[in-house]
Amino acid sequence: MHEECGVVGVSFKDEAPAALSIYYALYALQHRGQESAGITVHDGTCVKTLKGMGLVPDVFDKSDVDKLKGYVGIGHVRYSTAGGSNIENCQPLLISYKSGNIAIAHNGNLVNYNELREELEKEGRIFRSDSDTEVIAHLLVKNLMQYELGESVKELLKKLEGSYSLTILLGNKLVVVRDPLGIKPLCFGKMDNGYIVASESVAIDILNGELIRDVRPGEMIVFNNGTYESYQLSRSENYAHCVFEYIYFARPDSIIDGRLVYDVRMRIGAELFEEHDTNADIVSPVPDSGITYAIGFSKRSGIDYLEGLMKNRYIGRTFIMPGQDMRETAVRLKLNTVKPNIDGKSVVLIDDSIVRGTTSRRIIDLMRKSGTREVHMRVASPPIISPCYLGIDMPTRKELVAAYKAVKGVEAVINADSLGYISVEGLVKSVGIQQEDLCLGCLTGIYPVEIPGERCAKRQLKLSEF
Ligand code: AMP
Repeated sequence: MHEECGVVGVSFKDEAPAALSIYYALYALQHRGQESAGITVHDGTCVKTLKGMGLVPDVFDKSDVDKLKGYVGIGHVRYSTAGGSNIENCQPLLISYKSGNIAIAHNGNLVNYNELREELEKEGRIFRSDSDTEVIAHLLVKNLMQYELGESVKELLKKLEGSYSLTILLGNKLVVVRDPLGIKPLCFGKMDNGYIVASESVAIDILNGELIRDVRPGEMIVFNNGTYESYQLSRSENYAHCVFEYIYFARPDSIIDGRLVYDVRMRIGAELFEEHDTNADIVSPVPDSGITYAIGFSKRSGIDYLEGLMKNRYIGRTFIMPGQDMRETAVRLKLNTVKPNIDGKSVVLIDDSIVRGTTSRRIIDLMRKSGTREVHMRVASPPIISPCYLGIDMPTRKELVAAYKAVKGVEAVINADSLGYISVEGLVKSVGIQQEDLCLGCLTGIYPVEIPGERCAKRQLKLSEF
């Protein structure tokens, strides 16, 4: 099961209410998950959780937020994927154990989930969901029965393989952990009443907080009553920051691992022109994911930026309508052309990525119907040739259009006059993080952790490295 999610943690002093801040932070992270949302808070004596299916405003109204009394808490939004879409998998996950309650919100994906679950089931542990977060919860509780907090989390880290950014509510303490490879983002900031931790810095911005820094790979931070303490539980020689966060997933106004996503995307746009010099009348983005790249491309090339497509921002999931005519209506419901901007013109069309190729094909067909003379597709990621096992929702290898086709083959599938992808080197340069510290699994087929049947760059930590 692949999970793309957003997590939040808030720790206030002086009993200031945490739920409203968590609610706003989840709103800012809504792009990271639209399937379900949840908040858990602690008021010093008891813990309260509210979670449900849907968008943040569908799950919570004002009276719900008012009822969630507590000065420390965590929150979660979960992405819509094919499997496991049910209330049992909503987070935060709350469990009770001998010494109290633990609530966990998790962004990431464990690749050794099956082994860990089997191991725990053999010991007689019972599972209520098919989410890997429950495995984390069981392991943590087991450790807490034997060790103090730091040692417990350190032992936990040794067991988990894969990506995990965790916000954990342990009694009235907020504990946050980022996996030793730093695959998924996590950062924290200062607010008037205390601290906020979030998957992306935009959540800190909207609360008028001040970003302090990213949580370091392998670091645990414990927040308690207006103070925090950091514990570096493991040190990895290299990291494996997910490059797709920069390409597609994160908001452009977020700062991830010290880089403003907007700047990275502008640089990729400029690099795309350097790598694929193109003569055209205009540069046009696929909204919204291609916009920043197209601006970068336009600035570097001197070709005018003009929007040829408009997106309906209020569309949810459309039901599948039979018949070709209705299918075209469904595409146009989502995207329509600004005909005079593209009629008779040669257009550089820019998008963040081509996954199956169906979106690009439909868009290019639509543009041709509106009179576009030539479509030169430029793509801000290199060809996606392998699935993601670490938390980005991607189809299987056989559904990835570039997995078994060369660029010319994909060009034919999407019906473009020319197709140019950014190179892996150009992408790495634009992100500004050395290749050894990035996860490029979907682009190279080489992963930072061991995955059966796949090649591995062997970056998973050994026990001796903790
Ligand atoms: P397609 O090639 O038809 O599968 O769709 C590719 C488009 O989907 C890209 O233009 C992206 O904007 C968007 N996209 C890429 N990755 C994802 C993802 N993990 N989840 C949802 N949409 C995505």
